[in-house]
Amino acid sequence: MQLSGLIQKMHTHLNKGVAQYQLPIGDKLLNMNDLVGEQITLSFNHVIHCSHCGKKTNKSYSQGYCYPCSQKLACCDLCIMKPETCHHHLGTCREPQWGLDNCFSPHVVYLANSSGIKVGITRKGNIPNRWIDQGAISALPILEVDTRLKSGELEMALKQYVNDKTNWRKMLKNEVSPVDLLATKNELLGNIQNTIDTTSAQILNNEVLAINYPVVEYPSKITSLNFDKTPVITGVLKGIKAQYLILDSGVINIRKFGAYDIALTY
Ligand SMILES: [Zn+2]
Repeated sequence: MQLSGLIQKMHTHLNKGVAQYQLPIGDKLLNMNDLVGEQITLSFNHVIHCSHCGKKTNKSYSQGYCYPCSQKLACCDLCIMKPETCHHHLGTCREPQWGLDNCFSPHVVYLANSSGIKVGITRKGNIPNRWIDQGAISALPILEVDTRLKSGELEMALKQYVNDKTNWRKMLKNEVSPVDLLATKNELLGNIQNTIDTTSAQILNNEVLAINYPVVEYPSKITSLNFDKTPVITGVLKGIKAQYLILDSGVINIRKFGAYDIALTY
């Protein structure tokens, strides 16, 4: 079978605790879990179309946009990566209505274990996708606020005590030890009481969510593949974790190649 067209980051959901992945390719959604254990080939056709305006672009910016769009869309602004720098109140949001719809909505601060314990934030509606995208094996939402800015302020306060990065190589090799997220939550919340008060954050009482991944064999050594350097990538799909396809020939982060025109053979 062959499918081809523009790809986007994989859609995800949880089914009985296992991450399920669907790859948007052309106008199809391909269930990737079904391909684990199979030989697959991904060929880049040297064409990239901006995910926003649809124009051809030689290079992809902000994971799937042309340069002009990457400079004008609010979703490509730096404040999305650093929510504590939200500048909507200054009247300088690139797209004020988009900002209202996306950033002035319930956000959650969470703890997750992807390569060790980390803190992160996400829109409430993006749970558990955000955790699957990061390859977390467990996650616990701890606080809820009504804006992205406030979630960023809480994350900044928590970063004094806990990491906010994932070591993606460890995550992919599954070099992850279990951690007690509930105990960490209780310890951390006591340290940031001031920020909880100033952001009027609601303390959540969720249980820890465990996430399993469709992986038959984790790599012992990571070879990172890239369509710009290797336009034809082929191998046996050993599994999927975060937004990575784990092949016996190397790993590829599908998220980086949104808007690339790809032919997938299986
Ligand atoms: Zn564009």
